Amino acid sequence: MARPKKCRWVKMEPGVTFFKPQGIPLRSLEHNVITIDEMEAMRLSDFLGLNQEQVAKEMQVSRPTVTRILARAHKAVADALAHGKAIRIEGGDYRLAEEFLVCRFCGHQEPAPAQKGGEPQTCSKCQSPNSGQIAADKTR
Ligand SMILES: [Zn+2]
Repeated sequence: MARPKKCRWVKMEPGVTFFKPQGIPLRSLEHNVITIDEMEAMRLSDFLGLNQEQVAKEMQVSRPTVTRILARAHKAVADALAHGKAIRIEGGDYRLAEEFLVCRFCGHQEPAPAQKGGEPQTCSKCQSPNSGQIAADKTR
């Protein structure tokens, strides 16, 4: 499947994957890691203002998972801000940035499931079962 797209993971721009307090040498800094999926949860929840139900839908995870992801991310950020630690954003369990499942019935597009492409997925809009039609590279 879509082999050439395999490397196109959700990525922050280089240069914003690492934050450090000004004036402290890197080697003497502690840093907290926030995973890409934690960052995405914070972006959806804290920046865009989605509720946890909506975040769960966007990210194709359960609501308790969103609660857990956010709690961990908030703690890591708060710890870094409060204690002058650097923040690195990397890793985690996340999906391709530009893979979208297109509903065969209503045309609704949503992010493809985090894992295992090709499995049937229920359209979050019309509840129709789909067979994993992926429209990669939607943004181009
Ligand atoms: Zn649909």
